Amino acid sequence: MTSPTTPTDTVPRRLAEEVARRRTFAVISHPDAGKSTLTEALALHAKVISEAGAIHGKSGRKSTVSDWMEMEKARGISVSSTALQFEYGDCVINLVDTPGHSDFSEDTYRVLTAVDAAVMLIDAAKGLEPQTLKLFQVARDRGIPVITVINKWDRPGQAPLELLDEIVDRIGLTPTPLFLPVGIAGDFRGLLRRGEEGTATEYIHFTRTAGGATIAPEESYTPEQALQREGDVWVTAAEESELLSAAGQDHDEELFLAGHTSPVIYASAMLNFGVRQILDTLVELAPPPHGRKDVNGNPRGTTDPFSAVIFKVQAGMDTAHRDRLAFMRVVSGEFERGMVVTHAQTGRPFATKYALTVFGRERTTVDTAYPGDVVGLVNANALAPGHTLYAEKKVEYPPIPSFAPEHFATLRAHTADKYKQFRKAIDQLDSEGVVQVLRNDLRGDASPVLAAVGPMQFEVVTARMLSEYSVKTHLDRLPYSLARRTDPESAVELARQRGVEVFTRTDGVLLALFGDKWKLAYVQKELPNLTLEPLVAGA
Ligand code: GDP
Repeated sequence: MTSPTTPTDTVPRRLAEEVARRRTFAVISHPDAGKSTLTEALALHAKVISEAGAIHGKSGRKSTVSDWMEMEKARGISVSSTALQFEYGDCVINLVDTPGHSDFSEDTYRVLTAVDAAVMLIDAAKGLEPQTLKLFQVARDRGIPVITVINKWDRPGQAPLELLDEIVDRIGLTPTPLFLPVGIAGDFRGLLRRGEEGTATEYIHFTRTAGGATIAPEESYTPEQALQREGDVWVTAAEESELLSAAGQDHDEELFLAGHTSPVIYASAMLNFGVRQILDTLVELAPPPHGRKDVNGNPRGTTDPFSAVIFKVQAGMDTAHRDRLAFMRVVSGEFERGMVVTHAQTGRPFATKYALTVFGRERTTVDTAYPGDVVGLVNANALAPGHTLYAEKKVEYPPIPSFAPEHFATLRAHTADKYKQFRKAIDQLDSEGVVQVLRNDLRGDASPVLAAVGPMQFEVVTARMLSEYSVKTHLDRLPYSLARRTDPESAVELARQRGVEVFTRTDGVLLALFGDKWKLAYVQKELPNLTLEPLVAGA
């Protein structure tokens, strides 16, 4: 804040400095690739925690920080989205969690609207897996640069370059390793740092610590020393580096920021090998927060007055308090707890007395936040994903798009006398973005179709119907798994097809639902002139 003795121009300068040192990212991965382990390893390197696995040590080294969320999940209806903030060197790093496993939902995708970069975490033995592919599509669609981490190099897996080929072939992203592993998968000795035109500039040798619980000691060697130490194993890595250069796979800042190429780091989150290199890469290459365009296309810079976008709302996370938390990502200006901001969608003031950072069970009061930071707001009843908060200068950001649903069900009230509350609740949950609501004349309004990215969204709906509206509901899963956007003319023809149903989503988009990709392919072949466009993610 401006104090009487502070020259006014130091405030924007300080704000600009805070923006420049921030890196906000999410990890995109498939369950079991090692996201929790990596999160913990990053926290260990940033000295947030002193020992991995120490948080609530069960047998051996397992339960990680992010597993705190399991506890929330056990309560039935929570979807923990969390942000871990830590200082690393001169930087402030925000790691925004992408819920996965059984809590994979539309929120998982929405997280990617709140970050400036993504770390794509791949299991070295398994390569690209379905959930990673879906999240990658969303990241690409939003133009977020992606850093690739190939994890579990301490275990037998594929050849290093084979994995890279898979990335090129399946998603058309060009991997440009910054480091190559020295030692095959399962015999991870260290990393070769690639310099100009693939020349090896350094060998970073790692030493295992007991159970990987502490930072793995690193020693740095020149390429000549590396050759003496490691012999053929080093020669192989050096040759691979040259091969990559010959194929043009060297880091290029512009292409990376445009989402065409992806720097690659080989790592073992469990042994803490390569983890420092991941942090250094985030600091050096990931972009700091940038401004955004509002609904009218006018830019708001990061040093303009405060504004933020809500990217997730979590109801009933803490059953003891029955609170509702809205998570905002600061877009511009400085946030101070207690400031009164305006909720753009209603024009009403919103008091920010209770501002938190939330990571697992840990809640810490936030007093100040800057662009790139994530803050949880308590009692945020009017706030929904995509909503804008601002101070001083009015702004409203474009809504968050709906993502491709893959699960469908009809919902109806158990008894007809609850119909009115049922309608009200459906509209409310729809506007909060808890689930997408689809309607057509045939099915009528008494049993709308709910569409979700993950089935847990249905559980949230039925639980909230009961707890907040006292409506007992009945949910019937529908045998569809695929939605395509269509237009009014095509809709008429599609509605005549067996096994296809057409609905209008609340945002007016016409969706045709199909049982599986074969059914879709069949209809496309039979009726090639119909409009059937993939939706974002998982399409
Ligand atoms: P998440 O589902 O992506 O959060 O994955 P976890 O972090 O829970 O890891 C899944 C499993 O893989 C656990 O048993 C981890 O101990 C193991 N794991 C994670 N990273 C590594 C690694 O670098 N090497 C090996 N060998 N195992 C790992």
